[in-house]
Amino acid sequence: MNTFTPADFDFTFLEEGFCAHDIIEQRMKELSMSDDKDAFYVADLGDVLKKHLRWVRAMPRVTPFYAVKCNDSRAVVMTLASLGTGFDCASKSEIQLVQSLGVDPSRIIYANPCKQMSHLKYASVHGVQMMTFDSEEELVRPLVLRITADDSKAVFQLSVKFGATLKSCRRLLERAQVLGLDIIGVSFHVGGGCTDPETYTQAISDARCVFDMGAELGYNMTLLDIGGGFPGFDDSKLKFEEFAAVINPALDKYFPADSEVRVIAEPGRYYVSSAYTLAVNIIGKKVVMKEQFTCGDEDDGANDRTLMYYVNDGIYSSFSDVLFDPAYSLPRLHKKPKLDERTYPCSIWGQTCNELDGIVEQCVQPDLQVGEWLLFKHMGAYSVTLSTTFNGFHKPDVHYVMSRSAWQHIQQISAQGLRTPVEEACPSGVPSCCGRDVMSLCLHNGGSSGI
Ligand SMILES: *Cc1c(COP(=O)(O)O)cnc(C)c1O
Repeated sequence: MNTFTPADFDFTFLEEGFCAHDIIEQRMKELSMSDDKDAFYVADLGDVLKKHLRWVRAMPRVTPFYAVKCNDSRAVVMTLASLGTGFDCASKSEIQLVQSLGVDPSRIIYANPCKQMSHLKYASVHGVQMMTFDSEEELVRPLVLRITADDSKAVFQLSVKFGATLKSCRRLLERAQVLGLDIIGVSFHVGGGCTDPETYTQAISDARCVFDMGAELGYNMTLLDIGGGFPGFDDSKLKFEEFAAVINPALDKYFPADSEVRVIAEPGRYYVSSAYTLAVNIIGKKVVMKEQFTCGDEDDGANDRTLMYYVNDGIYSSFSDVLFDPAYSLPRLHKKPKLDERTYPCSIWGQTCNELDGIVEQCVQPDLQVGEWLLFKHMGAYSVTLSTTFNGFHKPDVHYVMSRSAWQHIQQISAQGLRTPVEEACPSGVPSCCGRDVMSLCLHNGGSSGI
């Protein structure tokens, strides 16, 4: 089921001994001969597989529902569908995309608390049964109650916009009860780029409170959704496994494996960030002399200038997250191996005529020439989906690659059919560590409102 072949979308097998970086080098060489030195991505789908295997190993109790808005390319969604993840969709077209690839509606959660009626109808008609809500307006269907999480330690904060406070949860639950609606569980999202795993602990304990509140009103909730926010690459401050090391004991404490609660998550950037590398070409360069006249030390002229590089991508295309956190792009700038070249302080700018369009405020680079390339790693998340055609520029092409062994591994997992990642972690029987999640993929079979 849900498997794919090289015919489904263009991808190249990496020959034995080659990696994605070799493909980038090769492509840069080819393009350097031509006039058309457009920016491009190379995406290694084997990296998505690796992330999935890491997830299953580190958090066997938690089923991932990939947040499609993070990167909705067919290649990524197909790979994840083959791996058997679920999907967090935020709109009708995301639901359409995922279902067009043969994903069963039981593997979809419509996790945008703010939904247009026509999209809602579409979801219902097409069998999507899990939806999140945080207000009375949305009280019309089997629901997962979204609570606020403390996202003060996150780069992208969402609690201002979404989530019900613990106080309003009681009111919502009471109201839902009056309306005879089914509330199947609780969700939260700690915000993108969470920097403190303890945030999850607090939110999981808050969720426990809401489960208990629900129980008092006669609700037997069975689903906990711990949202997204997991780091997308390892050179960020904390590794994914460090989050898992905090989340697992919190789950065991507040929702022990025998509590009959199924736990899911909605990772976005975790799955795709590191798979994508972006190559941009330098299309312009400016040397800015420092306007200061210091007496004394005659330096050799290296420290009196800043270089400004202009490249053929920018915040209106692949780098929109720079707007939210200017510090974000620097760690992704690929460091060249140390050569004996002199380096200069420099800044990197996008290609549009807009003053906000700066990519890296401050970095150190050798004296590069127009026509040379710069590489940015970890570019898979919130890049292709947020790209605009502002100023008439188009988003970079993506070249998908994968090793043969990665492809075979994906095929194998896919051939095992509709199994949860938990089963893949423990293929022989059901060790007690895996809890009861193994039993079901179907989360909710018809609530009292019966969509
Ligand atoms: C955006 C979003 C996610 C994914 O967030 P990441 O930081 O990319 O993991 C998950 N859940 C919800 C509700 C979201 O809005």
